[in-house]
Amino acid sequence: MRRAYSIVVSAGLAPVLIMGACLVLAMSPTLVPAELSGLVRYGPFLLAMLGGAIGWWFNRGRAVFVMLLLLICYWLLVGNGGGFSPDGLAFLRIATLYLIPVNLLILGFTAERGVLNPRGIARMLILGLQIFVVLMLAGQPDVGSALYQALDTRFFAATGILAVVPHPAMIISLLAVILLLVRHKPLETSFAAAIIAINVATVMGLGIIQYGYLAATGVVLAGLAQEAWRMAFVDDLTGLPGRRALGHAMAELGNQYAIAMLDVDHFKKFNDTYGHDVGDIVLKKVARELARVGGGGKAFRYGGEEFTVVFAGRTAEKAQEPLEALRKRIADNKITPPEKNKAVSVTISVGVSERDDDTTDPWGVLKRADQKLYEAKQAGRNRVVA
Ligand code: GH3
Ligand code: MG
Ligand code: MG
Repeated sequence: MRRAYSIVVSAGLAPVLIMGACLVLAMSPTLVPAELSGLVRYGPFLLAMLGGAIGWWFNRGRAVFVMLLLLICYWLLVGNGGGFSPDGLAFLRIATLYLIPVNLLILGFTAERGVLNPRGIARMLILGLQIFVVLMLAGQPDVGSALYQALDTRFFAATGILAVVPHPAMIISLLAVILLLVRHKPLETSFAAAIIAINVATVMGLGIIQYGYLAATGVVLAGLAQEAWRMAFVDDLTGLPGRRALGHAMAELGNQYAIAMLDVDHFKKFNDTYGHDVGDIVLKKVARELARVGGGGKAFRYGGEEFTVVFAGRTAEKAQEPLEALRKRIADNKITPPEKNKAVSVTISVGVSERDDDTTDPWGVLKRADQKLYEAKQAGRNRVVA
């Protein structure tokens, strides 16, 4: 429950706020002063270009692709410069409702390949080809053709909001949103939000489509920022916050806190015996336990097989109990390395120290916790020393 809550807050709050704001504006366009209507109209272009530039700067080819896709689709809808016939414009509108969910779904399930390299460029060419085909078809729309009919299908005599988006596009969008959301990753979540925004705005009417594209480009931009934040602060292997995040947490501490240093026992030998991959699995397991240490403790990966737990507002004595429970849980929870049929136990040693009048600096307290950890190792490992 706490985990679900933290996912919603960490990955979902920005999209919800951006989408909510755009929805409010779309429902009551009079909230936007007349002088700003031009900004709203050109906003999606600006955000898409900003997002594309930042994506390129971060070497995130998928984000650059999505920004280009949204920019082109928006231009197809509001540009009107191509001199298309009414049938051609209707076809373009339908085409964007397929282009966006299909491409975002595929991108959400492909690996990041950067921007200016053969694979990244090949992806851009695929985007260019799609747009080329759509423009060709829109130039000569044969509304009686099987393709046109298939793209514009309704599976039942729909009315109201169910009639606006072609039903195959609706199903693809719904599927894409679900599949992207279960990935639980910032950029993929933002792709799902973008698909929702485009569909909702389309249903609300072409007159307010700019709000849909504002929301879509805005959420992907936020997703890009969120992903960058994660890369800076969250450790890839264990999913725990890393050293940089520890620095921030230390800076926020008040006048009472305890800090624990943890180290996996004989881990070098474990790696040598079972291999580095199994070692990584163990680190993930230990991290999972650490993430829910309790007692108000927040866990960080200090580096390698060493972890730090910060207990804000607690004494070392108070911190000892959850740490002792953690040590026991890890020791009791044996693991069976692949291709071995014997379960082995992994143990940790822990040193805890608290702030006092001698040591008021968190890093000094951490250093003292590290000395206690050393004592725990000397005393035979698999223990907590305070
Ligand atoms: P001690 O009980 O005294 O702590 O012994 P130890 O072997 O755990 O200590 P030492 O510091 O000598 O070895 C730590 C080992 O942790 C060395 C390295 O192979 C391993 N290690 C560090 N980071 C990782 C990692 O990300 N993955 C894996 N699999 N192993 C790691
Ligand atoms: Mg070590
Ligand atoms: Mg060790």
